Amino acid sequence: MPREIHVRNPRTGTPDHTIVAAGDDEIIAAAGALRARQSAWAAQPVERRAEALRAFGDAVTRHRDELVARLETDTGRRWVSQLEVDSVLTSIERTCRYAEAAFAPEDPAPTADPDVHVTGDLVPYPVVAVISPWNFPFQLALIDAVPALLAGSAVLLKPSEVTPRFIPVLRACVAEVEELAGVLTVVEGDGATGATMVAVADAVCFTGSVRTGRAVGRAAAEHFIPAFLELGGKDPAIVTASADLDAASSAILWGSTINSGHSCMSIERVYVDRAVVEEFTEALVAKAEQVELAYPDIGDGQIGPIISDAQVDVIREQLEEAVAKGAVIRTGGTIQYLGGGAYLRPTVLTGVDHSMRVMREETFGPIIPIMPFDGEDEAVTLANDTEFGLSAAVFAATAEQAAPVAHRLEAGAVSVNDVCLTGMFPEAEKNSFKSSGLGASRMGPPSVRRFLRRRALLMRGSAGIRPWYYDGTPTQTEER
Ligand code: NAD
Repeated sequence: MPREIHVRNPRTGTPDHTIVAAGDDEIIAAAGALRARQSAWAAQPVERRAEALRAFGDAVTRHRDELVARLETDTGRRWVSQLEVDSVLTSIERTCRYAEAAFAPEDPAPTADPDVHVTGDLVPYPVVAVISPWNFPFQLALIDAVPALLAGSAVLLKPSEVTPRFIPVLRACVAEVEELAGVLTVVEGDGATGATMVAVADAVCFTGSVRTGRAVGRAAAEHFIPAFLELGGKDPAIVTASADLDAASSAILWGSTINSGHSCMSIERVYVDRAVVEEFTEALVAKAEQVELAYPDIGDGQIGPIISDAQVDVIREQLEEAVAKGAVIRTGGTIQYLGGGAYLRPTVLTGVDHSMRVMREETFGPIIPIMPFDGEDEAVTLANDTEFGLSAAVFAATAEQAAPVAHRLEAGAVSVNDVCLTGMFPEAEKNSFKSSGLGASRMGPPSVRRFLRRRALLMRGSAGIRPWYYDGTPTQTEER
């Protein structure tokens, strides 16, 4: 019996799209077909795979308008949808270069024995399952798929069931590149679909919440496959007394509210030196009040609807709990229903502390809680008082003044005198710390290298095999 999933439109609040979740048999068959075709794909020189991925980029360019239109409906965002598609195009070219470098020929390396040299080859995981979330549906569907394919793996991809309208267009792009069509299969489905995928893959790349990431990690351990997990965050920003408060408040407003706060690397906690906290807060509130909703026209304003219905509840509950415990709403604070979509203006909170969910759990909405600190040690302690470790930001008069604080933060990427730079500079290798993730970097050259296992060839030369035992025993050479 096919299992239908109804998809809600974030601007109207009504379900206007349906997908059919791939059944277990379909997934098992898809993985089998991918595995059968993968060895020929991997046997080609990397340049041929890069050619296929560049041809895929051309197909995406041809379908750009259609993709953007679907993503607009998926997310209620216009220019971010354009940005998503364009960023995938630039990432293909960059990742092709990483892949070509990964497979560059190498000279045999000497060992302690002059007669033995080491070389090797790189063996991709045959089938990589890629499971992605709803906040950047297109970009995050391909962020792991493209490097895995370039490494020589075949990919079984499942985007989020919350934002799946772009999937048919993505499939059309794949179908236009014959070499790729056999090694990249895109399925529709939800958590149950994803769980089956983990059971049939040789490695899994998962982007999503910590809660699901832990389940995927456990399932991967059960099947004894590696799991590359990119999970949630609760990113702190520290504003020291020497910082340019105008620049810091602008950057933090943007970093907290862009994409309606639906970014893993959103700034979700702000710690400001007590000497400047009121001045900073006033500047931030004044700017926040100038931000407009993308309503009634999607091209209006800057803040789109809250995409996922479930997230509306999370955001509301965190706000209500914070206010009940004494937080003060300085601006925003009310979820508005407009045309059926749920919107929240940038919301600045003061009077917060770490007993509140809004300071401990991921919000994934445009809320900016501000807390004062006394001294650098307290700022660092507060910023590190979290289960997450995705990224962070530090502001000071100069980057050199901010760097010592940045070095003390338990996070995989720290923007200095700016925010969210890790999202804009994917060449920077980074790991996710603590509960925010597991596994090698998806940024920089390791993005490709992590899908390759190294097979070492230890080559004995002409001197022949030495005796291994004490004098008097026959040598291995003599035995033969
Ligand atoms: P989610 O964990 O609910 O779902 C993510 C994906 O996992 C979906 O495709 C879903 O169908 C699938 N899934 C659900 N249960 C599964 C299971 N048991 N086995 C396999 N797959 C399963 O996350 P979401 O709400 O879609 O996305 C938001 C989260 O993603 C936030 O926490 C955000 O911080 C995080 N995120 C992280 C990054 C990063 O790079 N670290 C980037 C973007 C988003």
